[in-house]
Amino acid sequence: MRIAPVVTIVLASLLVLPVGGVLAAEVDPTTLARIRDAAMGSDWAYQELADLADTVGPRLTGSRGAEAAVTQVATALASVGFQVRLQPVTVAHWVRGEERAELVGYAGRPEGITQKVVLTALGGSSATAAEGLSAPVLVVHSFAEIEARAAEVRGRIVLLSVPFDQELADNGYAGDAYSQGGEPRFRGPAVLARLGAAAALVRSVGGVRYRLVHAGATTWPKDSPLIPAAAVTVEDALLIERLAARGPVTMKLVLTPQTLPDVQSHNVIADLPGREHPEEVVLVSGHLDSWDLGTGAMDDGMGLTASLGAVALLKRMGIVPRRSIRVVAWMNEEDGGRGSKAYFASVKDAIAKQVAAIESDFGLGRPLGIRAPVDATNGEALAPVLEALRPIGAGVLDRREGHAGSDIAPLQDAGVPGFAPLVDGRHYFDLHHTPADTFDKVDPDAMRRQVAVLAVLAYFLAEREEPIRMGR
Ligand SMILES: [Zn+2]
Repeated sequence: MRIAPVVTIVLASLLVLPVGGVLAAEVDPTTLARIRDAAMGSDWAYQELADLADTVGPRLTGSRGAEAAVTQVATALASVGFQVRLQPVTVAHWVRGEERAELVGYAGRPEGITQKVVLTALGGSSATAAEGLSAPVLVVHSFAEIEARAAEVRGRIVLLSVPFDQELADNGYAGDAYSQGGEPRFRGPAVLARLGAAAALVRSVGGVRYRLVHAGATTWPKDSPLIPAAAVTVEDALLIERLAARGPVTMKLVLTPQTLPDVQSHNVIADLPGREHPEEVVLVSGHLDSWDLGTGAMDDGMGLTASLGAVALLKRMGIVPRRSIRVVAWMNEEDGGRGSKAYFASVKDAIAKQVAAIESDFGLGRPLGIRAPVDATNGEALAPVLEALRPIGAGVLDRREGHAGSDIAPLQDAGVPGFAPLVDGRHYFDLHHTPADTFDKVDPDAMRRQVAVLAVLAYFLAEREEPIRMGR
């Protein structure tokens, strides 16, 4: 009587129902549990993050910090026995300059009074003259309003003020809140430049009000004129709006960033070689570069070092999966994605060997499960991963379509299934790209859980005989 259930359990762990008429060997659940538990007992990744955030700090593409991060990550991987490869990536080198602004004219201004505006230049912004520029301010709230008032744009400093929808973020749609609230920053400056604006300002993309600037990239199409572009704090955007409601507003703006010659930089890559198909690869990744106002502890120090931690853990445990697990530390995610493009160019002719790609780049919240834009059948095949992660509260599968990470987007577009930890993102955009993105914000427990999710998922994807596919 006692033997039968044991046999059933053993069979259930070794076999799954026929897939395409073949009995596929399943991944051993005790190994998945062992990996999870080892991750929950290790602070290796947390220590790596402390080193990265506190001793290197800001890692703007092209900067000394970015290069120091390349060295630090390569050294950390070598120290646990990996052969490390530096993949050359040519990157733009934009440097922040002076940045200040004040409202020097507005209705009701007492003699001798000006109002300070807290702002930060957007990536790739061009400069004002060293002494700055003074111009009337136009406030708009949408792209439709820009179009409607296009005739008023020329020669003005235009503030495109669109709120971040924190309600969306609070309800599990932080990524949607960011893509909607961020669109004015991504596209607005180039639209305004084409209409002859003297400068473009956007409202910081974030859900809380601590008068913090949120830096970030904006897109300049090839033929676009370049103008000074900056993000103002939410509070300052609202101040400008209130004063504009009283009458004409004039701003004095000083922004002196520079674009220096391109720099040779690198992605850092290391493989845990597979035992059966070493040429087939499962990526685990995060990005090396960061914005420069904080120390990039959460964006993306946490995702990067959790990825390093996951592969280091598997190596320390002596685990050798069927396929190779490759850790990639991407350069230049924030402002151009050239690391992602360089990697894709190097593998695109043998894209079938890229079996899966995981990216962790969604901040410091607690992982809730797996984000996997795959069809229902492939989603069901992930059940052993979710089961292994359920004891740490990370057993949810989110199959919503879309890119699981921006660096792996080209791989996904070429048919490689993309994955990410599903993370509580409610507060990610509070401090995202601000001076407050620092190490003290990182919870060591959330970090262990991130490593557990990445290590269990990566091992499963590399070990499972039949690869998980997108299936749509
Ligand atoms: Zn990031």
